[in-house]
Amino acid sequence: MHSLDATNFLTDDEIELQRMARRFMDNEVAAATPEMEATGTLPMDLMREMGSLGLLGTFFPEKYGGGGFTITSRAIVSEEMARVNAGLDISIFADIVLFARAIARHGTEEQKQKYLVPVLRGEKIGSMAITEPKGGSDALSARSHARQDGSDYIVDGHKIFITNAPVADFILVIVRTEGKDREINGGTWFIIERGADGLTTSQPFDKLGMKSSPTGEVFIDSVRVPAENILGEVNRGFHYLMESLDVERVLEGASNIGIAQACLDASAQYAQERVVFGKPISQYQLIQEKIADMAMGIELSRTMLYRLMRAVERDEVVTREASILKLYSSKMAVQASSDAVQIYGGNGYMEEYPVARFYRDAKHHEIGAGTTEIQKIIIARETLKHYGRT
Ligand SMILES: Cc1cc2nc3c(=O)[nH]c(=O)nc-3n(C[C@H](O)[C@H](O)[C@H](O)COP(=O)(O)OP(=O)(O)OC[C@H]3O[C@@H](n4cnc5c(N)ncnc54)[C@H](O)[C@@H]3O)c2cc1C
Repeated sequence: MHSLDATNFLTDDEIELQRMARRFMDNEVAAATPEMEATGTLPMDLMREMGSLGLLGTFFPEKYGGGGFTITSRAIVSEEMARVNAGLDISIFADIVLFARAIARHGTEEQKQKYLVPVLRGEKIGSMAITEPKGGSDALSARSHARQDGSDYIVDGHKIFITNAPVADFILVIVRTEGKDREINGGTWFIIERGADGLTTSQPFDKLGMKSSPTGEVFIDSVRVPAENILGEVNRGFHYLMESLDVERVLEGASNIGIAQACLDASAQYAQERVVFGKPISQYQLIQEKIADMAMGIELSRTMLYRLMRAVERDEVVTREASILKLYSSKMAVQASSDAVQIYGGNGYMEEYPVARFYRDAKHHEIGAGTTEIQKIIIARETLKHYGRT
């Protein structure tokens, strides 16, 4: 039972979606999570079930198998998903928010039928590869490149830390097709299918957290890609990337809130049951302080999240606010998970209890989709613009 949730911000249909997502996560995903964490794979039966229930394609047009909701629906589902399994949530984020949304925004009708429809059904998995060994924060310095050969392109490159790469059927890869290092013009997106000659992906990395989500490398060795697999316009790829970052950062707020909500739910229950010095530890003010901090952080983040989601629906530019939410909510979730481990004491350090997983998972969101430092740079730059300085 949540004392607080997003209900105040939602329409009746959205509340219904939230309830359905919550039921599914509690009834189906919670039980599957230990196995997913141990194997680091995405169970395809679970993916297909989410697809058929409409939990993947909530905000896509119905003609492609989507639910016809606004993009706020993804925040609703993400909160519920991350509350139970944040690793699954980042895999769905890569599959749906990164891959499928890019196809829906920039793809041809043929590409939508071929790539979007099966991904929304949960039959195929998508992935988006930007980060390279020499450039994560500095995405415009991509070394991967492509040259034209007749109507095809020959693509060469190496991508790292790519969510879903070890299992993805379709990988959307950005490479330089023109221009100099750090130039915004000259990037192009290619959709490369598993099985293409010269494409290999690594085994999943062994990583700190988000263990349910397979993360790997993509090696692209002179892969011949037909022109019909170019997404959008040639040389406009970095523009598309920059245009989508704000929404991705706002949506990462939902995942942070889900993790923090899980910490609060677990901590509040444990603190009332655990008796030390003759009293439940929830009666000690030092424990209450941690509960209060979690409640405050969740409430503030959630209020901002849904305000920004409605602004995104209206196509408003939210660059500064997206970075504020991403930075604040990721720090908040890391602190909440640390406090949850502390409230559980020795039990918190044991894998038998879920808070150790929350602690490991939360850290990812201070790094992925732009690090904390990069968010600070954006917040300062965008704020100073209001004062006429850069
Ligand atoms: C689990 C996981 C999943 C991921 N999934 C994907 C994915 O699906 N697709 C994808 O493309 N990428 C993915 N990434 C990569 C992620 O986006 C990058 O790790 C992130 O952008 C940071 O890049 P980097 O690791 O190269 O760090 P670097 O860019 O090398 O940064 C190292 C440190 O330097 C700091 N720094 C950099 N520049 C500055 C500066 N100007 N001022 C101050 N500090 C600075 C950074 O904040 C960071 O602390 C994933 C990463 C992880 C861990």
